[in-house]
Amino acid sequence: MTDDEVQAASRAILNGWLTMGEISFKFENDFRQKVGSSHAVAVNSCTAALHLALCAINLEADDEVIIPADTFTATGEVITYFKAKPVIADIEKDTHNISIKSIEEKITPRTRAIIPVHFSGQPCDMDEIMSIAEKHKLKVIEDAAHAFPARYKNRNVGTIGDITAFSFYATKTITAGEGGMITTENEEWAQRMKMLRLHGISKDAWKRYSAEGTYVYDVIEPGFKYNPTDISSAIASVQLSKSDEMNDRRLQITQRYIEAFRNNDAFIPYVVKPDRETCWHLYPLRLNPEALSISRDEFMIKLKQKGIVTSVHFIPLYRFTWYKNQGWDAADFANSEWVFEREISLPIYPSLTDEEVDYVIENVIEIAAQNLRIGSPAR
Ligand SMILES: *Cc1c(COP(=O)(O)O)cnc(C)c1O
Repeated sequence: MTDDEVQAASRAILNGWLTMGEISFKFENDFRQKVGSSHAVAVNSCTAALHLALCAINLEADDEVIIPADTFTATGEVITYFKAKPVIADIEKDTHNISIKSIEEKITPRTRAIIPVHFSGQPCDMDEIMSIAEKHKLKVIEDAAHAFPARYKNRNVGTIGDITAFSFYATKTITAGEGGMITTENEEWAQRMKMLRLHGISKDAWKRYSAEGTYVYDVIEPGFKYNPTDISSAIASVQLSKSDEMNDRRLQITQRYIEAFRNNDAFIPYVVKPDRETCWHLYPLRLNPEALSISRDEFMIKLKQKGIVTSVHFIPLYRFTWYKNQGWDAADFANSEWVFEREISLPIYPSLTDEEVDYVIENVIEIAAQNLRIGSPAR
């Protein structure tokens, strides 16, 4: 965040409108143009975006929706809002993205949709997913919380699946503190989601209170309180205007990490497939337990002692109490377990300096070198 965001937020506060109005509609349209989709619907989180997407496709009780094991719980939780069932698929070791083979194994007559998650910003195998969806008459809702901007075979994420959900949460590649966006090519769905984001009323508050408006409105169906505010949209607009610049910086940081950790047996490279462009929302370092004498968690503690805070993306869903109680079992997710045991997310954000990146690299390499397993190939 810079003074630009502060100034934009101040203007949005002082103009007195505060809630969703002209600033939000401009941001919605600017984002739509940037992605190149036909429609965009601004909301107050990606979770709300996913929820409204499932409303748009009329998800019903007892329907099944396939999601990857390695995601944030929001991807699964929205399905339960409908008393429908999140069905967990395994991931690929290389990309951490949902496995096509696993999707195929999980399809039943009750399957209604697939929610692929573009892990760390790397697009999933969308051609394969879209053709499975076509074959089985399923809808594809992309969880693109990590994936702005991202490209798959020269197509922007946000223009590929039936509906795409983006996040502007505090940690994401562009942020408003909280915020989200839906893109789709389907006009009818877009109109319905716009109505549902503001209580299901027939026209938005902006029109009701503007000069040409009247007090009259109708409630078409019960909706939700999912609109963004003009204050958050003002912040998000500034972030959008510098998103390419911020993206370039994340790519530079990743290049340094990739160079530094290649050809070192203590680490297993994370693979980005050649036909896609990721925005590196996360940089996943994968530790090789055969080469190291300390665990992933011990490695993280040693980094923390050097002032380097890391995280793990993600604790797989089936490891959580609620999902476990639905019958999901770690034993059925070999790849996801493999990834979970090895992954550390290193610091990556545009304001990270080259010196800081070098400091991270030096310490990661040093900790690995000091904790090699006796007789390991890495020695
Ligand atoms: C952050 C995140 C979400 C939720 O985004 P919010 O804007 O916080 O609702 C959903 N899915 C994934 C994969 C995420 O990382």
